[in-house]
Amino acid sequence: MRELLATPGATKYILEKYGLRAKKKYGQNFLIDPGVVERIVEAAQITKDDCVLEIGPGIGSMTQILSKAAGKVVCVEIDRSLQPVLEETLGDCENVKILWEDVLDVDLQALCEEYGGGRPLKVVANLPYYVTTPILMKLLELKSSAFSSITVMIQKEVADRIRSAPGSREYGALSLAVRYYADPEMVMIVKPGCFMPRPGVDSCVLCMHAHETPPVQADERMMFALIRAAFNQRRKTLANAVSHGYSLDGRTFTREQVAEALTEMGLSPSVRGEALSLEQFAELTGKLGRI
Ligand code: SAM
Repeated sequence: MRELLATPGATKYILEKYGLRAKKKYGQNFLIDPGVVERIVEAAQITKDDCVLEIGPGIGSMTQILSKAAGKVVCVEIDRSLQPVLEETLGDCENVKILWEDVLDVDLQALCEEYGGGRPLKVVANLPYYVTTPILMKLLELKSSAFSSITVMIQKEVADRIRSAPGSREYGALSLAVRYYADPEMVMIVKPGCFMPRPGVDSCVLCMHAHETPPVQADERMMFALIRAAFNQRRKTLANAVSHGYSLDGRTFTREQVAEALTEMGLSPSVRGEALSLEQFAELTGKLGRI
């Protein structure tokens, strides 16, 4: 389909033609501002050498632009009722492959190997807001070689959380996972009027180009397990949250062992996870790993 889909008229026409309504349960807020779609694709620096993973193509508004810029676009969409729509709107985009699945169930490592031809993929998505954090955590916890960049539309409030500093209320596992992966760049704030239907909050586009080498050295799986444990029970002290049989990538530690490691680092044994920087989580991971 040559006509731009990211406009109010085209989106309304397509939804009416197929008797569809945007589904709240799938976080469907379709982009209706072509300028915003162009900015997202531009920020992601897509070239014909790239294979792009788009999560949630919807009616294909961003996919049609990605298809022109990229070598290949692999989309994962949960809502099968969009199948006839995408067959029409992306019918002439031969480099687009659609997988009808919940992205949280997809083996992304295998997907990268199958479609990336040995090169990392670029992720571009207007994410469904009800699962923003689990999707981002899933992308970020993969080996950093899987995705060379992640460019996403998310709620502005989540972007603020990502960019928050240790000790603040918003700081959490997501802020740390992003920092480990990239220095996030805020591309633009997007107002509710750019979507159909309008979301209740401001959104923003965040672009993350993966660090060539991670900013800290640590066993990735164990460090992420430690971070998860720390923030799953953020009211507890770190030593309590991490002990009590909690498995860190197959290993368990006593409260005393964690407290001793923290003391060696010059931290209080009763410190909470929210006070630790990425560097300190990496150091603690190293100390626990050597026990
Ligand atoms: N990319 C389109 C756009 O910008 O207009 C649609 C974006 S809309 C905010 C989010 C899309 O993600 C919807 O198409 C929705 O059906 C899809 N989606 C929601 N949950 C999903 C999941 N768990 N896995 C894959 N796709 C999902």
